[in-house]
Amino acid sequence: MSLVTTPASKLGTCTTCASTRITEITMTLTDGSIVDFVSCHACETKSWKQAGADLDITTVLGKAKKHKVAV
Ligand SMILES: [Zn+2]
Repeated sequence: MSLVTTPASKLGTCTTCASTRITEITMTLTDGSIVDFVSCHACETKSWKQAGADLDITTVLGKAKKHKVAV
């Protein structure tokens, strides 16, 4: 008999408290960036990631607001 284990990277863990009680949502910002929004139910940390790299909330807001800036 063997145990099937899922790699932690697949499950997703909170980077703050290592809880697996997280919600991960992938969304596309108005500038076309695909980002992952991760919300932890254990410690209420919210974070944004793009291609696995942490994103600053101000960067996310900047990307989301880009369409409102006159081009
Ligand atoms: Zn957490």
